[in-house]
Amino acid sequence: MASATTAVKLQRRAEAALRELATRYPDTRTPLHHDNGFQLLVATILSAQTTDEQVNRVTAQLFHRYPDAASLAAADTEEVEQLIRSIGLFRNKARNIVACAGELLARFGGDIPGDIAALTTLPGVGRKTANVVAAHYLGLPGVIVDTHFGRVVRRLGLTEQRNPDRVEDDIRAIVAAADQSTFSAVVNRHGRLVCRARDPRCADCALAPLCPSACLPGQPGGTMPA
Ligand code: SF4
Repeated sequence: MASATTAVKLQRRAEAALRELATRYPDTRTPLHHDNGFQLLVATILSAQTTDEQVNRVTAQLFHRYPDAASLAAADTEEVEQLIRSIGLFRNKARNIVACAGELLARFGGDIPGDIAALTTLPGVGRKTANVVAAHYLGLPGVIVDTHFGRVVRRLGLTEQRNPDRVEDDIRAIVAAADQSTFSAVVNRHGRLVCRARDPRCADCALAPLCPSACLPGQPGGTMPA
């Protein structure tokens, strides 16, 4: 566990990063197309190991055919597979979204449960998916740890953890609850656009002055966690 002094230092670094990034990435909405919580939940389950663009391409038809939990719960899984077959892991995902819709209907009357713990009891819903729904539908603090987010917060020295659940714990400890959803969105965006996995653009990065991993021309580079 970080000492009190270290925790305050990390808290200040996270706040400074948030200030910088929030001005650069003012649009913090999820790129996944959806009209309601059910659609956001399904789209997020489908987004594992697949790009948001690919998910948006299949959900238009999927949501037209199955607009709510009741219709998807009654769906033929093979028909669902056909609709989503262009995305990775489509067989598992088809099974999961049909089962998830069934549980939503049976246990929550077709509504989205109101907290992260309850969301994670649904088939196919891990903490990342639950945090997306919390942040973008329920209006709760969400810390969405995907590959981009994890990489950037490690490079910023805000955590040394690689396990997504532990990364989430560390970030929740240093970022104010009211800022966690925005922090997740802007850090994710920064990871996609600037702090990229193979070629981080440190020379163009607004966070370089506060980043212990910054690799700048004419200066000794920091260590660069993946
Ligand atoms: S300075 Fe480099 S390593 Fe640090 S956040 Fe920016 S791009 Fe990433």
